[in-house]
Amino acid sequence: TENLDVDAIRADFPILHQTVHGKPLVYLDNAASSQKPRQVIDALREVDERYYANVHRGGHQLSNEATSMYEESREAARRFLGAKSNKEVIFTYGTTSSINTVAHAWGVANLAAGDEILVSEMEHHSNLVPWQQVAARTGAKIKALPITPDGLLAMDELPAMLSERTKIVAVTAASNVLGTINPVEKIIRQAHAVGAVVSVDAAQAAPHKPINVVEWGADFVALSAHKMLGPSGVGILYGKQELLDAMPPFLGGGSMINTVTIEGFTPAMLPAKFEAGTPPITAAIALKAAIEYLENIGLANILAHEQMLAEYAHQLMADIPGLKILGPDPQQKAGIVSFTVNGVSPNDIGMMIDTAGVAIRAGHHCAMPLHAKYGISSSARASFYVYNTREEVETFVAALRKVLAILA
Ligand code: PMP
Repeated sequence: TENLDVDAIRADFPILHQTVHGKPLVYLDNAASSQKPRQVIDALREVDERYYANVHRGGHQLSNEATSMYEESREAARRFLGAKSNKEVIFTYGTTSSINTVAHAWGVANLAAGDEILVSEMEHHSNLVPWQQVAARTGAKIKALPITPDGLLAMDELPAMLSERTKIVAVTAASNVLGTINPVEKIIRQAHAVGAVVSVDAAQAAPHKPINVVEWGADFVALSAHKMLGPSGVGILYGKQELLDAMPPFLGGGSMINTVTIEGFTPAMLPAKFEAGTPPITAAIALKAAIEYLENIGLANILAHEQMLAEYAHQLMADIPGLKILGPDPQQKAGIVSFTVNGVSPNDIGMMIDTAGVAIRAGHHCAMPLHAKYGISSSARASFYVYNTREEVETFVAALRKVLAILA
């Protein structure tokens, strides 16, 4: 059953109303990037047409307007995340840059030989590689919480993997391949009990479910606007104020300083301390429109809609010979359906189904260790969002059957 007025929602997304290869576009690559509603596109254009100027160094009218809109967007992000203070909400260039800030600023200052960094086997490369870089620099060691065969974190193994050597737990709130929604609160509670800090990759959670950083108890949370109806090039790093205050800045440059001499600098107050250089001004301001769009629909409603679509896809795909869906039941995940078909290359599926107008993604999805765990090197992934319909799920599965009739 449908809980959203998807027709009305679709009317807000100009890009969806087109044909590709002569077929109506069925856009199922939302885990990579979502599309933008008119409200976000209008916000982008409005800023560039009327309010654009560099922020925070103003004095003149346009700069003051751009600055106040930039700060209003920060306030929207604070509310969206449930953070206590705007000082804890840092504009970055995306999840990758948020996580790199935590790894290189907090990590380098706080990790040493003998310390442990706990990740999981389902991490995106952007929540692995920065930790590997920091481990190489500091001598800290990386451990990975295993996943179960059905694609859940092996939570019963967590207590044994945590010790006073564990300095940070870096874990995703939702997998970009399996869709699995992880028990972040529980992980944080257990990690805090051994004194570890927890950094949550919310790139795939923020678009699809309500999140509240205070309820989680998270120390750091990273997300990207482009996966939640917003523009690319901007993201958020949430950090607890006392941690952000205590750690050194990451990037150095303009805006992040209080005073500078030839010999040295003193850092600016939060959040400027972590916003070196000119930020993605237009994109950051337009993020507010995306947040408001999501809040108007309601994140819980969005998750229910996606899970309904995922469940329908599971049902329609169930009798396809040799097809295996990776990950848990639809009720335990966001609307992501990754799959393999015996003897068929996921890339071939992706390329051929594109000719039917269906946009899915094939590859390792920046999660090579996860695929290795399943003994595969790639998978095909259909990922749903707020504007997808049951009819599109039907079109996708019908096209998949045709493709497999040729390939299998
Ligand atoms: N983590 C997860 C779980 C993701 O899905 C992604 C995007 N695929 C990232 C991190 C990286 O995000 P970005 O490319 O926007 O920096």
